[in-house]
Amino acid sequence: MTYRIDSLKAPLLVSWQLTRDCDLACLHCCTDSAPGKRMADEFDAGEAIRFAEQLAHSEIPYVMLCGGEPLIVPHFFRLAETLGRAGIQLKIETNGQTFDDAIAERLARLPVRSVQISLDGATQEVYARQRPGASLEKAHAACRAVRRAGLPLEVTFAPTRFNIHQLEAVIAQARAFGAFRFNTGRLMRIGTAARQWQRLTPSAAQYRTFIATLQHQANPDGVEPIDLRYLPFTIVETLRENLADPPATMLVLPNGWVKVAAVLPLVCADLRRHTLADAWDLYRRAWRDDTTTRLLWSAIEDEARHSEANSWYCALRRACA
Ligand code: SF4
Repeated sequence: MTYRIDSLKAPLLVSWQLTRDCDLACLHCCTDSAPGKRMADEFDAGEAIRFAEQLAHSEIPYVMLCGGEPLIVPHFFRLAETLGRAGIQLKIETNGQTFDDAIAERLARLPVRSVQISLDGATQEVYARQRPGASLEKAHAACRAVRRAGLPLEVTFAPTRFNIHQLEAVIAQARAFGAFRFNTGRLMRIGTAARQWQRLTPSAAQYRTFIATLQHQANPDGVEPIDLRYLPFTIVETLRENLADPPATMLVLPNGWVKVAAVLPLVCADLRRHTLADAWDLYRRAWRDDTTTRLLWSAIEDEARHSEANSWYCALRRACA
């Protein structure tokens, strides 16, 4: 069988987690991020900039900078500008707590495809229940700053028992801010969310209402159109699609390891030891490896296995040799 990725010389997207450090400690976090959670072996500034230069000289068209919170990384702009000046399209995922006009205006000089801001509630009380200590007004101010600078805005919403009833109101806010896209889906059982699962996970009835609301919101009359993205709705549905067509996305962890898939703990390359081209080759081989197939099926059959996603290890021949 030939996969689409076999014909690609490079990934179509690199999703780069710059750090596990964050200025928030959200209950639903899928990367186990929180204040002071920077990993001891994360890329230092020099390593990160060298990797950004490799990306700049590659044929990769699109890089997503995320975390943790990417904007608290001191060398964030050196990375974004190295990539952007090479013509690479950028997406920035941020909680919006420190995002102001100065940041927006500096980013607006680069080819930014979007800035994605998390709005997990329509009221401060609900938002802060899921994101303790966070300010919804700051997140809203960030949305306004993005649009004032003429940047495309995406909003993301992670549903939990706490906020799921506010979906419609948050979509309305996203429309009012001029977001072109609204991303959501079933809560992922990864990281902090896995540890808080019983407390957070919405009921089946809540999810039925949630999906009905999304379907209703897709084409309502008389309001600004917005691209509602919620399919595939579950990780399991995504994994089934990936088995037939592995994603052309390289997931880079803060220490330069490359993951095979977000939901698997499996690492297939180490960018401290492998070039970008070698890492892409190892990634494509990983999707043909029996270990990957076994772990993917195990994640499809048992959602509880998703909680192992952040216990990274390398079990693939060649990757760790
Ligand atoms: S969900 Fe985002 S903002 Fe919240 S702790 Fe995780 S990385 Fe930080």
